[in-house]
Order: sequence, then structure tokens, then C-alpha cells
Amino acid sequence: MSTTETSTFKARTPIAREDLKEGENLCEYCTAKCCRYYAFPIDTPKKWKDFDYMRWYLLHGKAAFFVEDGTWFIMVYADCKHLQADNGCGTYETRPQICREYTTKDCEYDNDSGYDQLFECPEQIEEYAEAILPPKKRSPWVRERAAGLSLPVVSG
Ligand code: SF4
Ligand code: SF4
Repeated sequence: MSTTETSTFKARTPIAREDLKEGENLCEYCTAKCCRYYAFPIDTPKKWKDFDYMRWYLLHGKAAFFVEDGTWFIMVYADCKHLQADNGCGTYETRPQICREYTTKDCEYDNDSGYDQLFECPEQIEEYAEAILPPKKRSPWVRERAAGLSLPVVSG
């Protein structure tokens, strides 16, 4: 995570990971992607109620859900308060352990869509829930809306 000992490096044009030269740090070419969110696993949603909570979270914005290897995560977009204008860490010596253990190996530097599934808006969660849940497991309002949509439009 933004592994600079002092906050002195300047943002550089991103390079391919394999083009990194000996002695260089990949973080120097990054916009500190890993310092701009936090994520934690959640129970796998199974019922409409679970998905409805997820919709509610997403209605607040700055959040997403992703699935990796069958595990669901909520991701909250929020810059760390120690992130510096040059994308360096402002508390390198006292940074949390999770930052110390995170490395550039397999980090998200060049991984913009590496999730098995990604849900960024309430509509995506709703569509997914509607696709996997049998109609009778859906909330009454969802069933009513579906029924309403299926009615023919009468004009005149
Ligand atoms: S995403 Fe990777 S390259 Fe970017 S700051 Fe974090 S560890 Fe460094
Ligand atoms: S303390 Fe903040 S800025 Fe520093 S490495 Fe951790 S997440 Fe990044």
C-alpha cells in the first residue's frame, strides 16, 4: 500500500508492471488505488431481504459489492486520511499492519475489472436478485411491479 517512506514521489505516467526497472517501486507509478477504499467480506446473500439491504447500501453511493472466489465483499470508496496529494503515505512509520502486509504482488495496480462479479448500483443488485430468486421469493412490491409491467397498455 502506497509504500513510500517519505511522501516525495511525483505521480508518473503508469507503466506496465513488467516494465518496472530494478530498484523501482510500482507504487511510484500508481495513484494509490489501494489507499482509496476498504472492503470486508459479508455473508452470501440468499434472500430478497439480503439483496434489499445491499440495495440500500448502494443507494448511499460510494460503495460497491464484489465477489471473488465465491466470497462476497462490500467495498467502501473512501480515501485514507493519511493519503498525500502526491499519492504517498503520510504516516508511513506508523501505518496500520494491514498496509504493512499488503504488497504490490497481485495488487490492483493494473487490475481494473478483476472481480468475478461487481455490483456498483442498486439496479444491478435488483436485477441479479430477480434473476436468481424464484418469483415467490421476491418481495411483494417486486412481484406487483412485475405484474404491472406485464399488463397491456390500454389507450383511448
Ligand atoms: S495498488 Fe499496488 S501499486 Fe498501487 S499503491 Fe497499492 S500496492 Fe502500490
Ligand atoms: S495509512 Fe493510509 S495512506 Fe498509508 S499506506 Fe495505509 S491506507 Fe495508504
